[in-house]
Amino acid sequence: MAALQIVNYPHPALRWKSKPIKSISPELVNTVRTMFDLMYEARGIGLAANQVGLPYRLFVINLTADPDETEEEFVFINPEITKRKGTTEGEEGCLSLPQLYGDVKRSEEITLEAYDLDGQLFEIALDDLAARAVQHEHDHLEGIMFPDRMVEDKRIELDAQIADFEVQFRNQQQRGEYPSDEEIRKELSQLELNLG
Ligand code: ZN
Repeated sequence: MAALQIVNYPHPALRWKSKPIKSISPELVNTVRTMFDLMYEARGIGLAANQVGLPYRLFVINLTADPDETEEEFVFINPEITKRKGTTEGEEGCLSLPQLYGDVKRSEEITLEAYDLDGQLFEIALDDLAARAVQHEHDHLEGIMFPDRMVEDKRIELDAQIADFEVQFRNQQQRGEYPSDEEIRKELSQLELNLG
Protein backbone atom coordinates (compact mmCIF):
# COMPACT_ATOMS: atom_id res chain seq x y z
CA MET A 1 0.00 0.00 0.00
CA ALA A 2 1.15 3.54 -0.73
CA ALA A 3 2.45 5.60 2.19
CA LEU A 4 -0.34 7.12 4.23
CA GLN A 5 -0.82 10.85 4.11
CA ILE A 6 -3.44 13.26 5.38
CA VAL A 7 -5.91 14.04 2.61
CA ASN A 8 -7.66 17.36 2.24
CA TYR A 9 -11.27 18.14 1.44
CA PRO A 10 -12.90 17.17 -0.96
CA HIS A 11 -11.09 13.80 -1.08
CA PRO A 12 -13.95 11.22 -1.25
CA ALA A 13 -12.67 9.37 1.86
CA LEU A 14 -13.81 12.39 3.88
CA ARG A 15 -17.41 11.79 2.74
CA TRP A 16 -17.28 8.05 3.35
CA LYS A 17 -19.27 6.34 6.11
CA SER A 18 -16.64 4.02 7.54
CA LYS A 19 -17.12 0.38 8.47
CA PRO A 20 -16.36 -1.31 11.83
CA ILE A 21 -12.98 -2.99 12.32
CA LYS A 22 -13.33 -6.72 12.96
CA SER A 23 -9.87 -7.63 14.14
CA ILE A 24 -6.72 -5.85 15.24
CA SER A 25 -3.92 -6.98 12.96
CA PRO A 26 -0.23 -6.02 13.28
CA GLU A 27 -0.85 -3.95 10.13
CA LEU A 28 -3.56 -2.00 11.92
CA VAL A 29 -1.20 -1.35 14.85
CA ASN A 30 1.32 0.07 12.35
CA THR A 31 -1.39 2.21 10.77
CA VAL A 32 -2.28 3.66 14.16
CA ARG A 33 1.40 4.53 14.81
CA THR A 34 1.61 6.24 11.41
CA MET A 35 -1.59 8.16 12.13
CA PHE A 36 -0.11 9.51 15.37
CA ASP A 37 3.09 10.50 13.52
CA LEU A 38 1.15 12.29 10.77
CA MET A 39 -1.02 14.02 13.37
CA TYR A 40 2.02 15.31 15.30
CA GLU A 41 3.71 16.43 12.09
CA ALA A 42 0.62 18.51 11.28
CA ARG A 43 0.38 19.74 14.92
CA GLY A 44 -3.10 18.29 15.38
CA ILE A 45 -4.81 16.85 18.45
CA GLY A 46 -6.93 14.26 16.64
CA LEU A 47 -6.96 12.29 13.40
CA ALA A 48 -9.56 9.91 11.96
CA ALA A 49 -8.81 7.03 9.59
CA ASN A 50 -10.91 8.71 6.89
CA GLN A 51 -8.38 11.55 6.92
CA VAL A 52 -5.63 9.21 5.78
CA GLY A 53 -7.89 7.66 3.13
CA LEU A 54 -8.89 4.57 5.13
CA PRO A 55 -12.58 3.64 5.51
CA TYR A 56 -12.21 2.29 9.06
CA ARG A 57 -13.99 3.27 12.27
CA LEU A 58 -10.88 4.40 14.08
CA PHE A 59 -9.43 7.64 15.33
CA VAL A 60 -6.52 8.76 17.48
CA ILE A 61 -6.30 11.64 19.93
CA ASN A 62 -3.59 13.37 21.92
CA LEU A 63 -4.91 16.65 23.30
CA THR A 64 -1.38 17.85 24.08
CA ALA A 65 -0.29 17.50 20.40
CA ASP A 66 3.10 16.59 21.93
CA PRO A 67 4.71 13.36 20.67
CA ASP A 68 6.66 13.06 23.97
CA GLU A 69 3.40 12.85 25.94
CA THR A 70 2.77 9.24 24.94
CA GLU A 71 0.58 8.60 28.01
CA GLU A 72 -1.86 11.13 26.52
CA GLU A 73 -2.28 9.03 23.35
CA PHE A 74 -5.73 7.47 22.97
CA VAL A 75 -6.92 5.10 20.27
CA PHE A 76 -10.65 4.69 19.68
CA ILE A 77 -11.75 1.71 17.59
CA ASN A 78 -15.43 1.28 16.61
CA PRO A 79 -16.46 4.12 18.94
CA GLU A 80 -20.08 4.71 19.92
CA ILE A 81 -21.30 7.80 21.73
CA THR A 82 -23.76 6.37 24.24
CA LYS A 83 -24.70 9.48 26.24
CA ARG A 84 -24.81 13.20 25.61
CA LYS A 85 -25.45 16.09 27.97
CA GLY A 86 -25.66 19.84 27.48
CA THR A 87 -24.56 22.00 24.56
CA THR A 88 -21.54 24.18 24.13
CA GLU A 89 -20.15 26.23 21.25
CA GLY A 90 -16.46 26.46 20.46
CA GLU A 91 -13.97 26.95 17.67
CA GLU A 92 -12.76 23.99 15.65
CA GLY A 93 -10.25 23.38 12.93
CA CYS A 94 -9.44 20.28 10.89
CA LEU A 95 -6.23 18.81 9.45
CA SER A 96 -8.17 18.09 6.24
CA LEU A 97 -9.17 21.78 5.96
CA PRO A 98 -5.90 23.48 6.99
CA GLN A 99 -6.14 27.05 8.27
CA LEU A 100 -9.94 26.99 8.33
CA TYR A 101 -11.67 27.65 11.66
CA GLY A 102 -15.28 27.96 12.72
CA ASP A 103 -17.61 27.76 15.71
CA VAL A 104 -19.45 24.50 16.15
CA LYS A 105 -22.08 23.48 18.70
CA ARG A 106 -21.33 20.18 20.40
CA SER A 107 -22.60 18.21 23.37
CA GLU A 108 -20.88 19.46 26.51
CA GLU A 109 -20.40 16.02 28.04
CA ILE A 110 -20.40 12.64 26.35
CA THR A 111 -19.96 9.03 27.28
CA LEU A 112 -18.22 6.89 24.73
CA GLU A 113 -17.65 3.18 24.27
CA ALA A 114 -14.80 2.00 22.10
CA TYR A 115 -12.16 -0.71 21.74
CA ASP A 116 -8.52 0.00 22.41
CA LEU A 117 -5.57 -1.35 20.44
CA ASP A 118 -5.51 -4.49 22.63
CA GLY A 119 -9.09 -5.21 21.60
CA GLN A 120 -10.46 -4.30 25.04
CA LEU A 121 -13.82 -2.55 25.24
CA PHE A 122 -13.70 0.55 27.42
CA GLU A 123 -16.11 3.27 28.45
CA ILE A 124 -15.04 6.84 29.07
CA ALA A 125 -16.87 10.02 30.13
CA LEU A 126 -15.48 13.19 28.57
CA ASP A 127 -16.06 16.92 28.73
CA ASP A 128 -14.40 20.15 27.54
CA LEU A 129 -11.82 19.82 24.76
CA ALA A 130 -11.76 16.01 24.95
CA ALA A 131 -15.51 15.81 24.34
CA ARG A 132 -15.25 18.26 21.45
CA ALA A 133 -12.29 16.49 19.83
CA VAL A 134 -13.96 13.10 20.10
CA GLN A 135 -17.23 14.37 18.58
CA HIS A 136 -15.29 16.00 15.74
CA GLU A 137 -13.35 12.79 15.01
CA HIS A 138 -16.43 10.61 15.41
CA ASP A 139 -18.13 12.78 12.78
CA HIS A 140 -15.30 11.99 10.34
CA LEU A 141 -16.23 8.30 10.55
CA GLU A 142 -19.70 9.28 9.33
CA GLY A 143 -18.33 11.41 6.49
CA ILE A 144 -19.27 14.63 8.29
CA MET A 145 -16.92 17.63 8.44
CA PHE A 146 -17.09 20.49 10.93
CA PRO A 147 -18.42 23.16 8.49
CA ASP A 148 -21.48 20.89 8.00
CA ARG A 149 -22.27 21.54 11.67
CA MET A 150 -21.89 25.33 11.54
CA VAL A 151 -24.85 27.70 11.46
CA GLU A 152 -25.37 28.71 7.84
CA ASP A 153 -24.62 32.43 8.28
CA LYS A 154 -21.18 31.59 9.64
CA ARG A 155 -20.47 28.76 7.24
CA ILE A 156 -21.16 31.02 4.26
CA GLU A 157 -18.20 33.12 5.40
CA LEU A 158 -15.97 30.08 4.84
CA ASP A 159 -17.43 29.09 1.47
CA ALA A 160 -14.77 30.89 -0.59
CA GLN A 161 -11.95 29.14 1.30
CA ILE A 162 -13.75 25.80 0.98
CA ALA A 163 -14.08 26.40 -2.77
CA ASP A 164 -10.30 26.97 -2.89
CA PHE A 165 -9.74 23.52 -1.38
CA GLU A 166 -12.01 22.11 -4.08
CA VAL A 167 -9.96 23.80 -6.84
CA GLN A 168 -6.67 22.62 -5.31
CA PHE A 169 -7.83 19.02 -5.07
CA ARG A 170 -9.16 18.96 -8.65
CA ASN A 171 -5.80 20.38 -9.82
CA GLN A 172 -3.96 17.65 -7.93
CA GLN A 173 -6.16 15.05 -9.64
CA GLN A 174 -5.40 16.60 -13.02
CA ARG A 175 -1.68 16.44 -12.29
CA GLY A 176 -2.11 12.76 -11.42
CA GLU A 177 -1.27 13.23 -7.73
CA TYR A 178 -4.62 11.64 -6.88
CA PRO A 179 -6.81 9.23 -8.87
CA SER A 180 -10.30 10.29 -9.95
CA ASP A 181 -13.12 10.32 -7.38
CA GLU A 182 -14.53 7.19 -8.98
CA GLU A 183 -11.23 5.33 -8.66
CA ILE A 184 -10.79 6.50 -5.07
CA ARG A 185 -14.28 5.21 -4.20
CA LYS A 186 -13.40 1.87 -5.79
CA GLU A 187 -10.25 1.71 -3.65
CA LEU A 188 -12.26 2.52 -0.52
CA SER A 189 -14.72 -0.29 -1.28
CA GLN A 190 -11.75 -2.62 -1.82
CA LEU A 191 -10.21 -1.61 1.52
CA GLU A 192 -13.52 -2.34 3.24
CA LEU A 193 -13.40 -5.89 1.92
CA ASN A 194 -10.07 -6.33 3.73
CA LEU A 195 -11.99 -5.88 6.98
CA GLY A 196 -13.42 -9.36 6.41
ZN1 ZN B 1 -11.17 16.98 11.27
